[in-house]
Amino acid sequence: MSSSDHPEVVLDGLGDWRSDCGCGTPRSSDIGREVTVLGWVDTRRDHGGIVFIDLRDRSGILQVVFDPDDDAEAHARAHTLRSEYVIAVRGKLAQRPPETLNTELPTGEVEVRAAEMKVLSASRVLPFSLDDEADAGEAVRFKHRYLDLRRPRLQKNLMDRHRATTAIRSYLDGEGFVDIETPILTRSTPEGARDYLVPSRVNPGSVYALPQSPQIFKQILMVSGYERYYQIVRCFRDEDLRADRQPEFTQVDIEMSFVGAEEILALTEGLLAAGAAAIGAPVPEAPFPRMTYDEATRRFGTDRPDTRFGLELVELSDLMEGAQARVLAQAVADGGIVGGIVAEEGHKFSRRELDETVAWAQSIGAKGLAWIRSTDEGWQSPLAKFFDEGEREKIEERTGLRKGGVLFLVAGPRKYAQGILGQLRLRLADMLGLIPQGQWNYLWVTDFPLLEYSTEAKRLVSVHHPFTSPREQDLRLLDSEPEKVLADAYDVVLNGTELGGGSIRIHRPDVQARVFSALSIDESEMREQFGFLLDALSFGAPPHGGIALGLDRLCMLWLGENSIREVIAFPKTQKAHDPMCDAPSPPSAKQLRDLGLKFT
Ligand code: ASP
Repeated sequence: MSSSDHPEVVLDGLGDWRSDCGCGTPRSSDIGREVTVLGWVDTRRDHGGIVFIDLRDRSGILQVVFDPDDDAEAHARAHTLRSEYVIAVRGKLAQRPPETLNTELPTGEVEVRAAEMKVLSASRVLPFSLDDEADAGEAVRFKHRYLDLRRPRLQKNLMDRHRATTAIRSYLDGEGFVDIETPILTRSTPEGARDYLVPSRVNPGSVYALPQSPQIFKQILMVSGYERYYQIVRCFRDEDLRADRQPEFTQVDIEMSFVGAEEILALTEGLLAAGAAAIGAPVPEAPFPRMTYDEATRRFGTDRPDTRFGLELVELSDLMEGAQARVLAQAVADGGIVGGIVAEEGHKFSRRELDETVAWAQSIGAKGLAWIRSTDEGWQSPLAKFFDEGEREKIEERTGLRKGGVLFLVAGPRKYAQGILGQLRLRLADMLGLIPQGQWNYLWVTDFPLLEYSTEAKRLVSVHHPFTSPREQDLRLLDSEPEKVLADAYDVVLNGTELGGGSIRIHRPDVQARVFSALSIDESEMREQFGFLLDALSFGAPPHGGIALGLDRLCMLWLGENSIREVIAFPKTQKAHDPMCDAPSPPSAKQLRDLGLKFT
């Protein structure tokens, strides 16, 4: 048979040829063995009449030698091979001559002397090199993802990911968890994002929502008595795609009955250790350190602090009351704060870098960022003139500002100021090279507020989701001071990245109704959206709680990758597009008619 793309290549059938040896597996102890190997031509080299092929399959690379003295026909055909042809070779494993030993390959001491070859498939010239070092852009890599996935790095990533999920499944199985599937075509599950909607043809005018998480279903499974549920499950969130988000992503989703937070934290620590060990990442030691939300935001300006370095926030609000620097004093008078960060090595920043940092702060929403440089000549700062000697001493004492350092200040409402300083902290650490590599700081953040005021929605919203239980001792504040209520919720963080989070849930319908009402969800909306959950809770719901961990992100961090797209087989671009199959795509006129839809 002749392939139309390669008229010169005659293709063979597979027949009864089967691989009896992975390309990456033979060692010198196998020398003399007769083998059949199948795989892709990684490279071909012609040397003085002899053809060398690096043959590749998922197990690795093996050198195949076509010598006219071994088999003239195979040798002649070897000249027609090109990169990524699929071939089958039979021959004896032999010792490589000393000059061709390759200490970098596990199979580097051996080679196959080809006695027979079949060409099973040809390949067009590749649009980019499959070499890991070669740097093709994502657009072309994603368009030809089938080729991209052949690259050794991605092969390793996906196989390691498989190892991690297998270990996680077996860990959870050992802990008595049952893997139960929940619907993909369902109704909205509030996790704070927009839903992906799927119109229903047989129910004109109605839509399904793809699950943002299986939250309600896993709780219902507890009501149904399964006690320990897990699922490695796809979730869908239609968010504006910030740097490293995917519209669909995978969670390790867990729910347990008759437990408090402690059991869930311990279980999660064990799960993370099992996954890390399977993937070859350092195994974290349990128990992980813990920090309350309040402490995390005060010290680090975020609820997912990177604790690998200092640069902690300091609060100077009391020192700024009535200060001459009006902006600072006013912020405090308005009930806000003045917070700061000292970069001890701040003398390394040029004036230009300071200006750039101010401009950067504005770009992330800061109304202002002040800086004070402490030098041999005293303070250098646009603010210097507002502070006398005594005030300067107090500020230095509070913040630890010394000669050679720079103090950055942000003033405004607490959440805003902490947020800016938290991001500034990361930027400064990066600029000053303060982030240690090879350190794995796992951390629990606990005692989150249950609710927070959203200026966008103009009402209280859930910090996690509406099914999160208030701490028992805070229940009485729910109606009078709802923002003071803390939740029985926890997030797990690794080096400043949130790995996942969960909570003890509300299992009493009356408490759930009170929380809905604190969220300004009225009776009819409550019935319409969540009536089935309230009903379920009214038929003997056990106390329960759970957690979900972002599997893509976990694998990314464990494998030292910079993007979750490197650990997902078929990711989407930042515009939620799959360039390979060109999804999303416009529906046909017939599909629209069937669904009774019209685009405007
Ligand atoms: N459903 C939550 C989420 O997807 C996790 C949980 O509370 O278990 O983030």
